[in-house]
Amino acid sequence: LVRLRAKLARSQNALGRGLLAVLSRDHLDDDSWDEIEESLIGADVGVEATGQIVTKLRERTRIQGTRTATELRTMLADELIAALDPGMDRSLAATPKDGKPAVILVVGVNGAGKTTTCGKIARVLVADGHTVVLGAADTFRAAAADQLATWGSRVGASVVRGPEGGDPAAVAFDAVRRGTEDGVDTVLIDTAGRLQNKIGLMDELGKVKRVVEKHGPVGETLLILDATTGQNGLEQARVFTEVCDVTGVVLTKLDGTAKGGIVIAVQRKLGIPVKLVGLGEGPDDLAPFEPEAFVNALLG
Ligand code: GDP
Repeated sequence: LVRLRAKLARSQNALGRGLLAVLSRDHLDDDSWDEIEESLIGADVGVEATGQIVTKLRERTRIQGTRTATELRTMLADELIAALDPGMDRSLAATPKDGKPAVILVVGVNGAGKTTTCGKIARVLVADGHTVVLGAADTFRAAAADQLATWGSRVGASVVRGPEGGDPAAVAFDAVRRGTEDGVDTVLIDTAGRLQNKIGLMDELGKVKRVVEKHGPVGETLLILDATTGQNGLEQARVFTEVCDVTGVVLTKLDGTAKGGIVIAVQRKLGIPVKLVGLGEGPDDLAPFEPEAFVNALLG
């Protein structure tokens, strides 16, 4: 929790400062509620979710007659945690089934942190004793395959790549074939995230998915989302949820934003569990997402 707090220092400040001022007052009046609302919206919790959270809080304080700052903080934490649907399954489908490797497709717009996240996930899996093949199916970004190869040698995963500008689906196919032949546990496929048009994206990801499915079902499709892009990023994310069956979200760059509340907006708008969070560029800067620890770190 201490480490999470340090990494979320910026988010914590943004949400914390405004709330701290309100929570340190003796009485709650309409202005206080406005300020709580502003702090939440300012932290990117989203207008809709903020409205719901504040309405619930007002109701609870009215019924219970809460007036102390500590009580209100506890209630706010409860509501934020509840908004994150703490009961959702956030585990990663990374274990092989019927002798076939689990395949994880990694999707998202360019620059969101797909390649980095593939590397970090591979590191965690390898450290847990899994064997991993990384597929460099982002053949459009010149450096992506090299970047993934670097991660592979760093963390001890083999990397399958194709020619630059080649067919992403062919690379995905080769990666799954290699993973199957080598009997590895998990194949992670880094895809390209060109979002010029929805049809193109749908065609490309659809093709990748189809070739992978020749070996067996895709275990997981992870959408990588850059937390610093805020509500705009959320709109882009929606396109991916429309074109492929996203099973989990990884929210990256939470270390670089003062708006950690975006996690709540993402979870509520997409209805897909945030499974992991990226907290920096280093190999260890990936954490499982735990609503309770996260909210506590956010509120300081
Ligand atoms: P891709 O185009 O989606 O594959 O994105 P990359 O993996 O190349 O990442 C784009 C940039 O974001 C790189 O400079 C990464 O080091 C950086 N990055 C990725 N994840 C994080 C994160 O959690 N925190 C920070 N601060 N930077 C990150």
